[in-house]
Formats: sequence, structure tokens, C-alpha cells
Amino acid sequence: MLGNLGTNLKDALKKLAGKTVIDRVAVEELVKDLQRALLQSDVNVKQVMQLSQTIKKRSLDEEPPKGVTAREHVLKIVYEELVHLVGGKVDVQLGRQTILMAGLQGSGKTTTTAKIARYFKKKGLRVGVICADTFRPGAYTQIKTLCDRVQVNCFGNPKETDARKIVAEGLQHLKDEVIIVDTQGRHALEDELIQEIIDLNEMTHATHRWLVLDAALGQQAREQARRFHEAVQIDGVIITKMDGTAKGGGALSAVAETGAGIVFVGAGETIEDLEWFDPDSFISRLLG
Ligand code: GDP
Repeated sequence: MLGNLGTNLKDALKKLAGKTVIDRVAVEELVKDLQRALLQSDVNVKQVMQLSQTIKKRSLDEEPPKGVTAREHVLKIVYEELVHLVGGKVDVQLGRQTILMAGLQGSGKTTTTAKIARYFKKKGLRVGVICADTFRPGAYTQIKTLCDRVQVNCFGNPKETDARKIVAEGLQHLKDEVIIVDTQGRHALEDELIQEIIDLNEMTHATHRWLVLDAALGQQAREQARRFHEAVQIDGVIITKMDGTAKGGGALSAVAETGAGIVFVGAGETIEDLEWFDPDSFISRLLG
């Protein structure tokens, strides 16, 4: 539990060592250090403040159980509240399903689509990808190349400009157990883009709608999540580019906004670089 706390936090916790009664000053200091670390990792200010209040209140109100030191008790509370902040693990079913990929251009949606296709394929399922990205030139070639590499079916038509038509044809054409629809991204949340994803969600009767967010997104993550969630009820978040320097704290506001957990984490440009979301290592990274 919290094996890899940041150095500041460790120092603050030391002050609680050996104490049997919770020391208010020590808790305040700990919370201040925690705030600093989380804000540096791009976690939303409101979320940080809420977390701080809860930790302070619980630490001072709750009696440590018999045989548990003040330090252990506070540490447990901090850990529980951080797990609450990042959300729990999300289970991915290995059955028939349709997954709609949402996100803005450049978020890593197409790469992630291929990574997920590879994941299901490796689990022994038949997978088909529909390229409904009619906006970005080269999108079809990009996804087709990746699909060929992992040997999954890919349907698309680079000459067609209507994503709805492509998806309708794709659904007729592909008979695979897992269908993943890579939608178009664009640069901003235009109404047209939102309407299109609403239509695609209805047409495909999507089982899941996963939002792809760049770890470096920061506070814009909330607005993106809000718009997509309003449109299609996002039920999973994927944070990409976690191999970079960004800690992904901004994406936590998307978790809060949608109530959806983080499903996968993208950690590199190649199709093998997909990881399960691990709350513990994510928290360690936020604090590090
Ligand atoms: P889309 O416009 O959302 O479909 O984005 P792409 O899938 O084309 O990705 C945009 C850029 O981000 C490409 O250069 C990808 O190689 C890169 N990318 C995607 N996921 C990751 C990741 O997890 N780590 C790194 N380092 N780069 C990524």
C-alpha cells in the first residue's frame, strides 16, 4: 500500500510515526504536501480540495482501531481516498460486444483502437475494426496497416465522406465477435462531431463507449468528458501517452465527470504498448 510515496509525503508521514493520538498539525502538513504533489500532476483544484477535506476530517474523526498506530491509520485513509479519486479497476468482458471509440484528434484514438483489437485477438476472439474517421486524411490507411499487422478484419472506405454510411456497411460486412468503431476526432468539440457520435452510438447499439484522452491534456479533460458523456454516456476512459512526462492527473476530472473508470493506459507508440489500469501504480506516479 502506497509503496512508492513521494519524498515529501514520506517526510510528513514520519512526523506521525510512533504517535498514538492523531496530531492535527502533522495531518495538516501531510495534506499540504499531498496537495502540492497532486496539483503538480495536473489534478483539478476542486478535486484536490475535496480530497484534502475528507482526509483531514476522517483522520481526526475516526479512532484508529486497537493496535493500529496513528501513522498507519492516516496512511490507510490517504490511500483509500486516493483510490476513490482515481477510480477502481474496470473489468473487460471477453464476449460479443461493440466498442465505440471517442476522443479528439491526436488523442491516440486510432493507435489505441489497434491496441485494443490486438488485446481481444490475443484472447482468442474474432475482431473487426470499422474506420469511421472520415475527417483525418490517411486515417483508413493507418488503421488498415495496424489491423493487418495484428491480423484482424478492418472495414473502411477512404472515398466515402459519410461516417454513418461506412458504419452501416461495416456492420453488415463484419461478423466478428468484437467490433471496434474508430470514430473521427477533429480538433474541437463541434456540434457536428457530437451529433455524429450520437448517431453512430444508436446505429451500432454500442456495448461500450470509451473516451481516449492524452495524459498531457490537463484541465481540458473535464470539458471533453462532459460533452462526450452528455452525448453517449461514456463508460470507460483510456489515458494515452503515459510513457511521457505527464502524470495523467487531468484525466481524473474525466473520471469524476463520467463516473466511469479508467480501462486501459497507453504507454507507447507501438501496438504492444497497452497496459491495464493499475490504481496503485497510477497513484504512486501522481505522487512521485
Ligand atoms: P488519433 O488522431 O486520436 O487517432 O491519434 P493517433 O492514434 O493517430 O495518435 C496520435 C499520435 O500519438 C501518433 O503519433 C501516435 O503514435 C501517438 N500515440 C498514441 N498513443 C500513444 C502512447 O500511448 N504513447 C506515445 N508516446 N504516443 C502515442
